[in-house]
Amino acid sequence: MAWKYKYEDMLKRAYEKLPEKTKKETRFEIPKVDSEVQGNRTIVKFFPSLARKINRKPEHLMKFLLRELATTGKTPGKNAIFMGKFSRELMQHKFEKYLREFVLCDQCKKPDTALKKEKGLSFKICEACGAKSSVRSLKK
Ligand SMILES: [Zn+2]
Repeated sequence: MAWKYKYEDMLKRAYEKLPEKTKKETRFEIPKVDSEVQGNRTIVKFFPSLARKINRKPEHLMKFLLRELATTGKTPGKNAIFMGKFSRELMQHKFEKYLREFVLCDQCKKPDTALKKEKGLSFKICEACGAKSSVRSLKK
């Protein structure tokens, strides 16, 4: 235990030595979609945590993907299942399309945005720069 304590202490000190700027600016990395074709279906693994990484509801992301892929599917447990064979590249491409439309700020490109509804319209509001842009609502 003594060693562990020392090690953590060392890490802490190393961290404190970093310039202020490095600590604050954590660059947003686009999450990778972990998908796999199984038979006639395509499985996206860890779907809820994928949605959590971009701070969106799994249901919303699912609705978007189903519409984009023009298919049906479901989200039992940790996976999302899409009817049809879709390559990993295509799933990643669609996911990034969702990011651009519903997550990343149009102005500053940061992912710190929230979706809000006002008078039946949906908006993407940036918590970093305050920009507000309308987004389409995904009806069934
Ligand atoms: Zn912004």
